[in-house]
Amino acid sequence: MRRATQDVSRSIDSLVFEASLPAAECPECGETTFEFQDLARFDLEVAQSLLEHGARSPATLKFVRKALGLKGVEAADLLSISHETLSRWENGKIRPDLNAVAVLGGLVSDALAGQSTMRDRLRALATPKLPANPIRLRIERQSA
Ligand SMILES: [Zn+2]
Repeated sequence: MRRATQDVSRSIDSLVFEASLPAAECPECGETTFEFQDLARFDLEVAQSLLEHGARSPATLKFVRKALGLKGVEAADLLSISHETLSRWENGKIRPDLNAVAVLGGLVSDALAGQSTMRDRLRALATPKLPANPIRLRIERQSA
């Protein structure tokens, strides 16, 4: 396998996203293959760009969920909605709740930053576990 770069693109509705990704090229047949993680990152960047531009079409929602690696039931659980509701958003039968779209955007930002802040918060809301008092917080002055 030779190292190469290969253009990749995704179309969602009328938008086309392109990038050049590292790829491995077979010296015999010339076929190129991507690393899963590079493609996954590309899809997350596409999802981020869609949401930054306010996209919220059914195709966008489905693409974002898949970029996050979530099955329908998993995404519905995280968003505290029924699987049927999520299906209707993704099929364009009903318009999505924009707050839920914003939550998906938070999940995408986290995934790109290698963090799980939003997911942890959603899990905490789903299963509250309040600690004993007092709850001691550390306040640090922001350095300039
Ligand atoms: Zn080959």
